[in-house]
Amino acid sequence: MEKKQPVLWIVIPCYNEEAVLPITAPMFLEKIRDLEEQALISDESRVLFVNDGSRDRTWEIIQSLSREDPHFLGIAQSRNRGHQNAVLAGLMEAKEHCDITISIDCDGQDDINAMDEMVRQYLDGCELVYGVRSRRDTDTWFKRVTAESFYKLMNDMGTEVVYNHADYRLVSAKVLRAFDNYREVNLFLRGMFPLVGFKSTSVFYERHERIAGESHYPLSKMLGLALDGITSMSTRPIRLITGFGCLVALISFVGVIWSIAAHFMGVAVTGWSSMVCILCFLGGIQLLGIGVIGEYVGKTYMETKHRPRFIISEKTWQDENDPEMRIG
Ligand code: UDP
Ligand code: MG
Repeated sequence: MEKKQPVLWIVIPCYNEEAVLPITAPMFLEKIRDLEEQALISDESRVLFVNDGSRDRTWEIIQSLSREDPHFLGIAQSRNRGHQNAVLAGLMEAKEHCDITISIDCDGQDDINAMDEMVRQYLDGCELVYGVRSRRDTDTWFKRVTAESFYKLMNDMGTEVVYNHADYRLVSAKVLRAFDNYREVNLFLRGMFPLVGFKSTSVFYERHERIAGESHYPLSKMLGLALDGITSMSTRPIRLITGFGCLVALISFVGVIWSIAAHFMGVAVTGWSSMVCILCFLGGIQLLGIGVIGEYVGKTYMETKHRPRFIISEKTWQDENDPEMRIG
């Protein structure tokens, strides 16, 4: 069934991106116009920037863009909350006004031309379209290896993620309304959307180098994201520890029998080295176990607080649903 031209909102998180925005914003605008001309989307479509508490001139740039062209809109978070929360803030705002959203980073790394195919897939009946990197040539060897092990580890640990898909995806407003019922504060969007269900597909694209500025994801943050992704989506690590604990207990049992037998056979020597090894090993395993369980306790703690996942402090337009909002 052919749907009417959907209203598309492109949602773009921005944190300290003054170097990139003036270059990429016109590209997004051109893409919206292009899609409108192809009659794939409605001319009510918009580009929504989410300022994630930037410390540079990003918000001023967004404000002036919104004055220059009615396609551009902006919302500002009250402070920096991180990429995932910024995307969520944008998506939740957009779902009130549009039929479909496409989230994309503002640094020009993801090929905007994949949007045509995403919208076509939506018109063909898909509610979720994942943008998937077909190649990683532009990444360094190190980034490629770490990223690929990241996806493998995630899947091994029971978090269903689409391989090589980051946060470039089309999500319909229908899916977003269902997604709104997922109230968790530990966000890992790329793992959460597959849980919502609905008909989905992937669109492949090539990833470019960042146009300007610097990545906000150094290795330490990547590791943090991987750890958060696993522990907020799956309890398999706890299972693994339990399994490992059983194994160690079994080995210890054999060890106890062996040591008693050795005592009675009179061959028990003062085995200092083996003693130290066993002590260190068990100590290490126990600390690791406590650490992993602690991760989950910490997550539970944050979840029980039910803190807001984002707070919007300003918008570039007068929103009738939200008369108290400050207009930036
Ligand atoms: N970003 C954000 N809040 C943050 C960090 C990043 O909104 O605290 C945005 C950033 O402006 C960009 C996107 O998230 O649009 C992805 O960040 P980046 O390009 O630095 O990550 P990478 O592509 O290197 O993984
Ligand atoms: Mg980037």
